Amino acid sequence: MDLKKIIRDIPDFPKKGIIFKDITTLLKDKKALKVVIDLLAKQFAKSKPKYVVGIESRGFIFGTALAYKLGVGFIPVRKKGKLPAKTRSVSYDLEYGTDTLEIHADALKAGDKVVIIDDLLATGGTVGAVSKLVSGSGAKIAGIGFVIELSFLNGRDKLKGLPVFSILQY
Ligand code: AMP
Repeated sequence: MDLKKIIRDIPDFPKKGIIFKDITTLLKDKKALKVVIDLLAKQFAKSKPKYVVGIESRGFIFGTALAYKLGVGFIPVRKKGKLPAKTRSVSYDLEYGTDTLEIHADALKAGDKVVIIDDLLATGGTVGAVSKLVSGSGAKIAGIGFVIELSFLNGRDKLKGLPVFSILQY
């Protein structure tokens, strides 16, 4: 199945010069959705994680389905101010300014093995920050998975030493 044909390119969204990879067309396709979740599960079953950590918001979609398929729990990393209990946070640089992501302070314990999931790896800033949040709790990153990797942005350079997997590369 040619998944690249099912993902829709939206030029100049959310701003001029960006080609946005729209995965809603993939989510809508029952066969493509199954193929993607099965590929992630095949890759990460051998890591035997205790949890899948998903990054808001498209990481929740793929991450929760993967957790269900692996028979493990799911932990959300959310944008600042959304999680109700005590949190730990990490800030990271954007093109203009900074952003902050949070995880519940009691979500992970030292030694917990996790797989981190997001829909797309671009510059690696987001997932690099999440990896610090996870490592900071003493948990072990068994894998990091994406549906799409924009290889020309070299996001992997920010994830040195971590096992990165992507289904599709551009
Ligand atoms: P980055 O921190 O640069 O790796 O950006 C990754 C985050 O931004 C992911 O959560 C993606 O969903 C989103 N993102 C970045 N670039 C794109 C793109 N071209 N199309 C769709 N989503 C993108």
